[in-house]
Amino acid sequence: MGVWAGELLGLELPQKGKRLLVVVETDGCFADGVSVATGCWLGRRTMRLLDYGRVAATFVDTQSLRGMRLAPRPGLREQVQQGRRLGQRRWDAYMEAYQELSAEELFRLEWEPSLDWVGELVGKPSQRAVCAGCGEEVLNGREVRGEGLVLCRACAGVSPYQPAGRPPGGR
Ligand SMILES: [Zn+2]
Repeated sequence: MGVWAGELLGLELPQKGKRLLVVVETDGCFADGVSVATGCWLGRRTMRLLDYGRVAATFVDTQSLRGMRLAPRPGLREQVQQGRRLGQRRWDAYMEAYQELSAEELFRLEWEPSLDWVGELVGKPSQRAVCAGCGEEVLNGREVRGEGLVLCRACAGVSPYQPAGRPPGGR
């Protein structure tokens, strides 16, 4: 998937710089595979995980501002299962299919009509704030501002992730 994305965008992958941004929609070995193929990593801030539980990724060229989403073509799983030879292991059938089928046969491709969301997703790398609730530092412009208060997303109660580090009785 990552290799094809590079071809479509005309980028040499895995990249050494930070030009390509990838948004993966699930975690696990899929995300690691995308990182290895593209050179986009969470640690380099060139990968974002939005856990929708879908084996899909959106690849954004941050210079040309072109991007597209790739996902396995609907019905691919069934197709591979039906083509499985007697006694062939499921995993082997998948590996064979991935080698034999073209990228077009494997993946559904949708060019992104708008990349307005990229800025919000990347955040503001140089920005730091301090949360009035937990007192912890908030990086990259991820704070929530309102009613004269600066809060992290956990203290503001706008995130499904509600870890410790909130004041007792906090929202
Ligand atoms: Zn907080």
